[in-house]
Amino acid sequence: MQFILGLRSKGITDARILQAMEAIPRIDFLAGTFQPRAYADTPLPIDCGQTISQPSVVAKMTQALDVTPRCKVLEIGTGSGYQAAILAKLTRRVYTIERHRQLARLATKRLEALDLGYVTVITGDGSLGLPEQSPFDRILLTAASEDPPAILLGQLRVGGIMVLPVGQSDKVQTLIKIEKTDTNLEYTELGEVRFVPLLEGIAEDIA
Ligand code: SAH
Repeated sequence: MQFILGLRSKGITDARILQAMEAIPRIDFLAGTFQPRAYADTPLPIDCGQTISQPSVVAKMTQALDVTPRCKVLEIGTGSGYQAAILAKLTRRVYTIERHRQLARLATKRLEALDLGYVTVITGDGSLGLPEQSPFDRILLTAASEDPPAILLGQLRVGGIMVLPVGQSDKVQTLIKIEKTDTNLEYTELGEVRFVPLLEGIAEDIA
């Protein structure tokens, strides 16, 4: 399929990730008007003024996260639920937090329809993490923060990996990977990206 060849040409080599992205229909995570562009490598609008990420960026972040089948993963910024579905194909335990109730509700429906493993969507402020389920082996933020949130680093297991876009909200941001060792945090820069900002609190959705 053209979609998978395109991801390969952008440096995605991990066979498990390519398989997961072939198995999860991105079209199911989009509203009708945007469905014709589901397999173009572009971000697209979703409800509540948010966006579903570009497929090659989803693949790149997932590859950097290095998810193994026994990892407990936390995603901040459920959005459409697409990234969570890819993660759920790779491991058995995924928690994802979204501050817009409406997006969380829609994502839950979509994820249930796909009959994936254990994936739970939570409406809440992801910058607070999920203390009752911590520590996590992997944490992925799909909204940009000025700095890596200390609360989330605190919920990452030693030996764990966190991937996130950092930088000011309306500018180009840098994707970074943080590996937590027993003595420190190791940072790797993975290139420029552009995400919506990580905002505090639960959104006041207009029903
Ligand atoms: N991963 C998504 C795309 C992310 S868009 C997908 O696959 O479709 C970023 C999302 O982060 C938006 O839906 C936005 O509402 C959400 N967000 C921003 N700040 C947040 C916070 N503090 N807690 C939870 N979600 C947040």
